[in-house]
Amino acid sequence: MENFLTQFGDIRFDLDVYSRHSDRLTTRVGRLCNPRRSLNKKFVVESTSHLSENDIHGILSCFPSTCDTRTRLTQILRTPTEWIAKSATASDRKSTRNIQNAMSQCLPLTGATTYTESENTLNAHINLYDLPEFDFAENRLLKIVQCQTAFHELTHALLADVYLRIEDNSSISMILQHRNRTMDMTELLQKTREEVCSVGGVSLYANSYRDLMDDADPLTSTRAICEQLCEAVAAYFLEYSVHEDSKTACNPLPKGSRLHELVKFFLSAEQKD
Ligand SMILES: [Zn+2]
Repeated sequence: MENFLTQFGDIRFDLDVYSRHSDRLTTRVGRLCNPRRSLNKKFVVESTSHLSENDIHGILSCFPSTCDTRTRLTQILRTPTEWIAKSATASDRKSTRNIQNAMSQCLPLTGATTYTESENTLNAHINLYDLPEFDFAENRLLKIVQCQTAFHELTHALLADVYLRIEDNSSISMILQHRNRTMDMTELLQKTREEVCSVGGVSLYANSYRDLMDDADPLTSTRAICEQLCEAVAAYFLEYSVHEDSKTACNPLPKGSRLHELVKFFLSAEQKD
């Protein structure tokens, strides 16, 4: 059980790590949730258990405006609490709305992104789950959890094309360009893989996908690398990550590091095809 709790991300661990730096993180989250620009696209946004609509607009506005064009996001919906189910495995993270069937009450889902395709239009839908009450956790800590989740899932919405191409077994043709640098998405994912390994992983959650990055099935390995990028983007904005190494937790993406540069490129780039 303990192994599973670590593997799936026991929320007590996140809350414990956040509580040690709660003042700094609360200030940071307050800034991130404050809209800094208007968005170039309209999205359906519902307030959630710990984020208001305005907070979510703030989070969306942290991404460079090029992301408004690139993202496949259509909606962010409030979703009732779900937990990792007793029957879940590392590669099949089944969930349940019935706490009796939960592996642990400390394994609530925080967010999910699903994709639909119709008439050649790919859409990403984000679900942000209501977080259950914990008598040991203040609301401001749960807000940090939801903010981190929102950044993670919004990155999935930017990677929707990657998921689709891998699922239908075709090659990923996505060229990203920023200033005089051009990178193909396959290369960017490969570089992400190398950089996260060289820094010992971006977060505890990302590390739970570490072995899957070497999976023989390209769908599984690509998805595992996408999880690294989602966690890296969230760490980039929060300037913090839930990591067992406290030094990495406080400075997950040191400025000027190759991973920091890679994330900056990924976010700022325009899509060329
Ligand atoms: Zn994810």
